[in-house]
Amino acid sequence: MANPLRKNRPGGAERPRVLIIGAGFAGFHCARALDRRLAATADLVLVNPVDHMVYTALLPDVVGGLLDPRGIATPLAASLPFTKVLVGTVTAIDTGAHTCAVRGIDGREALLTWDRLVLNPGSVTRTMGVAGVLEHAHGFKTLAEALYLRERILRQLQFASATTDMHARERHGSFVVVGGGFTGLELAAQGRQLSRAALRQYRALDSESVRWTVLEAGPSVLGQFPANLARRALDRIRKRGVDVRLGAAVAEIAPDHVRLVSGETLPAQTVVWTAGVTPAPLISELGLAVQRGRLIVGDHLQTRDHPDVFALGDAAAVPDLTHPGQLAAQTAQNAQRQGVTAAHNVAASLGHGKARAYKHHDLGFTVDLTGRNAVATPLGVRLSGVLAKVAGRAYHLWALPSGRLRVLSDWINAAIGGRQIAALGLIDERYATIQAEANGGGAIDPTRPVKRTSA
Ligand SMILES: Cc1cc2nc3c(=O)[nH]c(=O)nc-3n(C[C@H](O)[C@H](O)[C@H](O)COP(=O)(O)OP(=O)(O)OC[C@H]3O[C@@H](n4cnc5c(N)ncnc54)[C@H](O)[C@@H]3O)c2cc1C
Repeated sequence: MANPLRKNRPGGAERPRVLIIGAGFAGFHCARALDRRLAATADLVLVNPVDHMVYTALLPDVVGGLLDPRGIATPLAASLPFTKVLVGTVTAIDTGAHTCAVRGIDGREALLTWDRLVLNPGSVTRTMGVAGVLEHAHGFKTLAEALYLRERILRQLQFASATTDMHARERHGSFVVVGGGFTGLELAAQGRQLSRAALRQYRALDSESVRWTVLEAGPSVLGQFPANLARRALDRIRKRGVDVRLGAAVAEIAPDHVRLVSGETLPAQTVVWTAGVTPAPLISELGLAVQRGRLIVGDHLQTRDHPDVFALGDAAAVPDLTHPGQLAAQTAQNAQRQGVTAAHNVAASLGHGKARAYKHHDLGFTVDLTGRNAVATPLGVRLSGVLAKVAGRAYHLWALPSGRLRVLSDWINAAIGGRQIAALGLIDERYATIQAEANGGGAIDPTRPVKRTSA
C-alpha cells in the first residue's frame, strides 16, 4: 500500500500529523479550528466520503423544494486552506501502530500514519431488525438521500396521476415515514407540502389521492421535547394533513406496503426510515471500550487507554458535565462544540495552550412543521407558531458554516413564489443506499449496481 501523503515537507522540520476522520458537524468544526490554529506547526489531514460537510438540520427543506442543496453543503477544501482533504473512507485503524487504512473514491487503498487521531464518523441508521428496511425503505441522512426523496415523491405522484388502477394510485400516492422524532416530523411536514403543491402539476390527482403517514412506536412524538410542546407539534402536524399514528410499531416493510405489529397493513410504495441511529461501524471495529455502541471518552474527549485518540460527536460517549452521570445528547449542537473543544485539546497535547473539559449548556431545539407551524425551546423558553419559526430560522442562519445568503434568498423566494416543482431525475438510487449498521454503513460505492427496481 502506498502512502500518498508525505508527512513532512521536504527539508522541513518534523511535523506531527493530526488525522481527522469524518467531516460532519464534529469533524468539520474540529478541522476548521485546527486549520486556523496549527497550520504552521502540524500536518492536518481530513478524510471524508464526500468533498463537503452537510448541514443536516435543513435537509427537510431540500426535500420540500424550499432550498437549493448547494446552500447547505460546505466545500471542505475551500474552507480548510491548510488541511489536506482526502475524499475516501477509512476502512481500518490500528491504534497501537498509529496507522489508518483509507479507501479512495477510485477504490485504491492507502495507509496513513498519525500522531493524533480525531474520530468523528457519526452514526448510521439502526434497523432494529425490522424485515425489509434495507431492501425497501429509504434513509434520510445525506444530501443525496434528500435529493433522491424529493425526486421520488414527485415521480410517485406522476405514476399515480398516470394510472387508472385505483389500487396502484393509492400505493403511489401514499408515503410513510417511520419515526416520530424531529427528523421524521419535519420530513413528513415538508413532504406533505411538496405533494400538495405538486397537485397543481398532476391534475388527475386531488388532495385525497395523496397520503402522508408517520408511524411512531412510542406513546408520543418528539421524546426530547417538553410534553406540552410535543402535543402542540402533534396537533399542528395533524392539522397540516399528516396522519400521525402513535403506538404503531412496524413489523415489516415490503415493496408496496408496511405491516404493523398489530397486523394492520398500509399500502405505500415509498417508506422512509428515521427511527433511530447507532454509531458508525468503524467504532465497533476498534476494539476499544464502548457504551451503548459509542466510544467512551473522558471530559477532555480523549479515549481511556489511548490519549492520542480523540472521539466526539454522535459516535462518542461524551460525559455531560451539566447533567452528571448522563451522556451528551447526539445533536448537531453538541457535535459542533465538541469539535472546537477537541481542536483546542489536540493543540494542547502538541504543546499549544492548555486542555479544557467539554461542558455545554444546551441552547434549545427547534422543529419546523412548515408555514407558521413550529415549536422551539431557545435558551429554555418554550415557543410555538411564528415566533418559534423565526427563532429556528435565525439559529440556522447563524449556525450554518457557509451559504447563509443562498439559504436566506431561497427561503424568501419560496415565500414569494412558492415551491419549485420539477422532477429533474438527478440522483440515481445507488447514491441513496440506506446507511445502516446491518450493511456495514452503506458507504457510497458508484460501482455498485442498482439493486432495487421498484417504481
Ligand atoms: C435529517 C436530519 C436532521 C437533523 N436535524 C437536527 C437538528 O435540527 N438539530 C440537531 O441538533 N441535530 C440534528 N440532526 C442530528 C445531527 O445531524 C447529528 O447529531 C450530527 O450530525 C452529529 O455530528 P457528527 O459529526 O458526529 O456526525 P455526522 O454529522 O453524521 O458526520 C459524520 C461524518 O463522518 C463520515 N464518515 C463515517 N464513516 C466514515 C469513515 N469510515 N471514513 C471517513 N468518514 C466517515 C460521514 O460520511 C460523515 O460525513 C439531524 C440529523 C438528520 C439526519
